[in-house]
Amino acid sequence: MNTISNIQKELHTSLVNGRLAHAYMIIGSPRGSGLRLAEQMIKMLFCQTTDAKCVGCQYCRRIDQRIHPDVTWLEPQSKSRKISTDEVCQATKKIYQTAFEGGWKVVVLVHADRLQPQAANALLKTLEEPPDTTVLILVTEVAHALLPTIASRCQKINLLEETQDPPVWREGILGLFRKGWPQSPLENSTYVAQLRSILESQKQALKDEMEAQSDPEEEPKIKDGKLHARYLETRSEIVKTFFTWQRDILLGTLGIDQSLHHSEDLEQIRIQSQQATYSKVLERIKRLEELVRRLERNLPETLVFEQAFR
Ligand SMILES: [Zn+2]
Repeated sequence: MNTISNIQKELHTSLVNGRLAHAYMIIGSPRGSGLRLAEQMIKMLFCQTTDAKCVGCQYCRRIDQRIHPDVTWLEPQSKSRKISTDEVCQATKKIYQTAFEGGWKVVVLVHADRLQPQAANALLKTLEEPPDTTVLILVTEVAHALLPTIASRCQKINLLEETQDPPVWREGILGLFRKGWPQSPLENSTYVAQLRSILESQKQALKDEMEAQSDPEEEPKIKDGKLHARYLETRSEIVKTFFTWQRDILLGTLGIDQSLHHSEDLEQIRIQSQQATYSKVLERIKRLEELVRRLERNLPETLVFEQAFR
């Protein structure tokens, strides 16, 4: 995963060419990758080390310690979980003053989605007419929670999108769909067994991923809870694709093969819709709806699947 380092290279090129934007919105974790990239961007502006890797010059150290006089950090207050208008005004005022070190001035908003509407308006003024050598960095995980007027004035760096691989389960599930809806008890049991094994490997993948990222001190109970929540999330994403596949077939029975979810499987959709009827596919969709209700009631997974694909 060298996404962040690629982004850094691009930013460095913009800096060298004098084309750095005045405002960036980093869409990524304000505790993890988003925050790290913000710190690296700031270091890039202030670091005095000319060779590739700085091991901690006085400027970088000050940034790490958050005591650099030309870098203002805004974070939600622990109590209200909001970034207030006052804080924004104080920070932007500093932007219009001369930099202590004579160079860049930076304001970083961590959890920028927690800006109060009035605070956002105060920020907007600066975003509209930013003084030279000023960079505003907004870090958020939920870009859509920001006012569009703010978002549109920022250059976006989407870490969430960049680091997203196609989910582990996708190919397996599509393989299952291509087999068609089970037509006999035997087909039903192989179908369900295959689905179970996809879900199991997904569970394992989530577990590995979380283990690699998690805090070793964290209580096993909490870890298990988080894992279970992630698993349920993924399971419902998987179930959603059952609907999209059947929807495509339903359209197929009407002779429609445009704007399909699974257009990459057009041939298979055509074959399956020729083998089914409109009402048969509707019946399947009803079964899937029932499946969702049963899973929500925490009924045993295997049983729920067996009944749905009978
Ligand atoms: Zn440095």
